[in-house]
Amino acid sequence: MQQRSKTVFKCPQCGQYITRSDLNLKGKFFRHKISLHKYIIAQKLPSYPKITKCQKCDKIFWLNLFRRVGSYNNYMFDDDLLDEDDSSKDSVLYKIFYFLFGCKPKWENAGYAQFLYIEDNFKVLDINPPKIKSRLIYIRLNILLGYNDRIWDNKPLFQSKEDQLKWKYNIDQLILLIETLYSDMNKLLVAELHRNIGEFDKCTELLNNITDERLHWLTDTIRKECINKNSNVILLDLG
Ligand SMILES: [Zn+2]
Repeated sequence: MQQRSKTVFKCPQCGQYITRSDLNLKGKFFRHKISLHKYIIAQKLPSYPKITKCQKCDKIFWLNLFRRVGSYNNYMFDDDLLDEDDSSKDSVLYKIFYFLFGCKPKWENAGYAQFLYIEDNFKVLDINPPKIKSRLIYIRLNILLGYNDRIWDNKPLFQSKEDQLKWKYNIDQLILLIETLYSDMNKLLVAELHRNIGEFDKCTELLNNITDERLHWLTDTIRKECINKNSNVILLDLG
């Protein structure tokens, strides 16, 4: 059985413990069919959340080193970094619990870190927008994927005209944030975003600049949709 390393964080508002499984599933998919966006984004981001909402007090916070209090991996755990001193560490009960469950008793009922829903991602941008560019990109990519998830839930992509405008604005901003990053994967995503907002000529022009042959099956797929003037989300069948 593969060992899963779990990191434990603490809510800055109420002190609730929150765990995150850090097994990296980059590039692995549980569905045969996934959106092209997700396929591209999964190459760029880990599969675990970097920002979450406390299930106890609704505080939204970044899961970073500053909030990390420790980690465990089956029967190994490191010492708390920022947590209060654990005076019960030497007790027999503590040792039994540790032996049986492989984690500290006080961590056992920790909530599990979840990805933010679209509304909460928008809330972050409204109330406390990240100053670091990579975090801004992270939030906007997750909004993009949040819209895509509606397809899996058999819901319309947009709930209202205003919702559609927010989706469009998010894509415009993503293009501005990513177009200056020069990897072929980023170029591919920017091209695809232009197609999503109906800018087919711009999309085709950008696809022509992608040289990595391993991506040609994707550029061919997008190019075909441009010829058909189709801006819908592409679903890839990975068999
Ligand atoms: Zn909390």
